[in-house]
Amino acid sequence: MTNDLSELNVPYRLLLGPGPSLVHPRVYRAMTAPVIGYLDPVFIQLLDDTQRPLRTVFRTENDFTMAISGTGTAGMEAAIYNVVEPGDTVVVCQNGYFAVRMADMVRRCGGEVVLVEADWGKLIEPERVEAALKDAGRVKVVAIVHGETSTGVLQPLEEISRIAHEHGALLLADAVTSLAGCELRIDDWGIDVCYSGTQKCLSAPPGMAPLTMSAQAMEAVAKRSEPVRSWYVDVSMLQNYWGGGNARAYHHTPPMTMLYALREGLRIVLEEGLETRIVRHLRNARAFWTGVEAMGLTLHVEEKHRLTPLTTVRVPEGIDEMALRQGLLLEHNIEIGRGFGNLEGQVWRIGLMGYGSSEENVFALLYALETQLAKQKFGRDRGAGVAAAARAFAAD
Ligand SMILES: *Cc1c(COP(=O)(O)O)cnc(C)c1O
Repeated sequence: MTNDLSELNVPYRLLLGPGPSLVHPRVYRAMTAPVIGYLDPVFIQLLDDTQRPLRTVFRTENDFTMAISGTGTAGMEAAIYNVVEPGDTVVVCQNGYFAVRMADMVRRCGGEVVLVEADWGKLIEPERVEAALKDAGRVKVVAIVHGETSTGVLQPLEEISRIAHEHGALLLADAVTSLAGCELRIDDWGIDVCYSGTQKCLSAPPGMAPLTMSAQAMEAVAKRSEPVRSWYVDVSMLQNYWGGGNARAYHHTPPMTMLYALREGLRIVLEEGLETRIVRHLRNARAFWTGVEAMGLTLHVEEKHRLTPLTTVRVPEGIDEMALRQGLLLEHNIEIGRGFGNLEGQVWRIGLMGYGSSEENVFALLYALETQLAKQKFGRDRGAGVAAAARAFAAD
């Protein structure tokens, strides 16, 4: 038998797309710790150690706050599969790709979907949610995306939360991209179910999905008339596992290495401070926006509704968007994302998330963008973007 496999050789890329984002070097280091058994007291301590900072980062006192084994989408499944039963009506606010995915999951759970739609790049208006709730009869859940990575919109949640509760519905929010990058207040804003992922602003690899559920949401799970249709993400079993003290029963073998990564990612967030981190995302995003506009490019989302960790830049007329992305990757080692769904071919999606949100990355990216656009004969004033960003940083 011959072994023709060469040694794994993965290039180091500057990941400035919609995710995965750059992994913090300390997180990589934590991931080399040895794997231990799930009944090891050291491991049990690790679960407790992870739960506390998760509550801090979510800004919640929710007893049920843990991390699902799996990527952000597993968090979405855990959220939806636990609270939705056959026959339940769910209002899904749909102005981007991830809400399309939510609606699909609700239907797979036997739920009835009522869509409140807006253009991709615009907000969901609270009045529209209110009207849908008035029309729909009894609604169990209002589902919405906080930071829509497909469009670059940050959706305000407080008003919609109030309206949902007035109508006796739970509010379920996707915070995969917004957690630890944007203001997010689970308890103050009354969000009942919220999930995230490790691979966006937490600067860890993809693989875990933080999840928090309010007492009301847990009560809705307890009152279910049939078991959750997913065994793996059934929160009543997971609760025993994460909160079970010495009585912890085996549920599944947790991916230890990813828990080390999440723990270190959270430790870094707490060290920096949540507020400081949010301001850093804003500052770097603003300088980047100033830079791209100075280059003659247009941003897809109105400034006051923009998501700071993820910016959508319009592809100008006559530009080959794929050739530009290829040039960025092959000549500058930088990955950015393409538009998809309704925005396919229309935007680039650029992430300045977590560890990746830095001054030096803003400059590297603007320089690379200007170089690649010049190859396609776009832009008159080479260096205008970098200069404008430098001025924006200086003035900030
Ligand atoms: C990335 C993302 C997801 C999905 O997460 P995966 O880690 O790709 O499974 C869900 N919602 C939003 C808003 C995201 O940005």
